[in-house]
Amino acid sequence: MKILVPIKRVVDYNVRVRVRTDGSGLELNNVKMSMNPFDEIALEEAVRLKEKGVATEVIAISIGVPQAKDTLRTALAMGADRAILVHATDDVCQDIEPLSVARILEKIIKSEAPQLVIAGKQAIDNDMNATGQMLAAALGWGQATYASAIEVQNNTVLVTREIDGGLQTLCLKLPAVVTTDLRLNQPRYVALPAIMKAKKKTIDEISIKTLGIDITPRLSILSTAEPPKRQAGIKVKSVDELVSKLKNEAGVL
Ligand code: AMP
Repeated sequence: MKILVPIKRVVDYNVRVRVRTDGSGLELNNVKMSMNPFDEIALEEAVRLKEKGVATEVIAISIGVPQAKDTLRTALAMGADRAILVHATDDVCQDIEPLSVARILEKIIKSEAPQLVIAGKQAIDNDMNATGQMLAAALGWGQATYASAIEVQNNTVLVTREIDGGLQTLCLKLPAVVTTDLRLNQPRYVALPAIMKAKKKTIDEISIKTLGIDITPRLSILSTAEPPKRQAGIKVKSVDELVSKLKNEAGVL
């Protein structure tokens, strides 16, 4: 069974992002970029399925700027067998929207024929949480979002999902699309030998032009603003003073 893992290059989660002075978006030049954390979890799960003998091949795919090749190298070092980079733009500030990503993935999936796609539940740069769902709809495949456990059994995949007030387990027929939540696993640390070994693995590069898919944005960002600065807190001397302030000043009691 082949597993395809879509991987997005995003601003590293430790970076404190800044809004561009003209408010048109975030400052992305010279900012540390990394693999989207939910995609790291997706890849870890796919690699574990391969290590258990359930999967035969793990393919990582990224759509975006040529620099996403570095992110794919990390994916190969984590254990992906090969990678595909779809060159969609040269502009590091251009986000490829979920519908376009889903259409590109659909096209690649038609030729690669994976049985399972494991994607992140959301990209931490735009928080869309849409690509997996759109891809499943485009392919007509079953989907399970927010996975906290995945078990492949013959022609089906059992997916445990975190929902309000508990856990839900779905049984999907393969092929299927699954998106990952935070508690699915703890991605492995990539050691130097794995990084060296990954240099020999293949990254196929495809130009968006050869796919015939229109990726013109449908959404336009009207403005971007930093969250308002938090007011400094105060210290109270006693519980009575706290209760009085909550009652008389905050009006919450
Ligand atoms: P989103 O719907 O944008 O929040 O993204 C959800 C998931 O779709 C991500 O966690 C990735 O697995 C995948 N994805 C989104 N954009 C890309 C991209 N440009 N290249 C590869 N995978 C992507």
